[in-house]
Amino acid sequence: MLDWTRRAACLDLDPELFFPISVEGPSRSQVEQAKRVCGRCPVRRPCLEYALDTRQAYGVWGGTDPAQRRELSLATPPRETVPARSLRGGR
Ligand code: SF4
Repeated sequence: MLDWTRRAACLDLDPELFFPISVEGPSRSQVEQAKRVCGRCPVRRPCLEYALDTRQAYGVWGGTDPAQRRELSLATPPRETVPARSLRGGR
């Protein structure tokens, strides 16, 4: 279990609320309900970062649905990576 998940507002809720069948039609209200829970969650930021880092394609994470995360991924430059030369101890 990731440390931040222990403080999640959704910890004791039904996980199915955060993984609706669809984000359209009748499931839309379920998505909005899940997002409202995220809105009062103290670990919203690490949750969203985790979802982006691990490319979570389904569900509501950090107050976002999959389409919103795709947009964020496209708008956010990749994190700075350590040059391969440094990983091998080269100069
Ligand atoms: S931000 Fe939402 S999905 Fe993430 S831990 Fe909090 S309540 Fe759960």
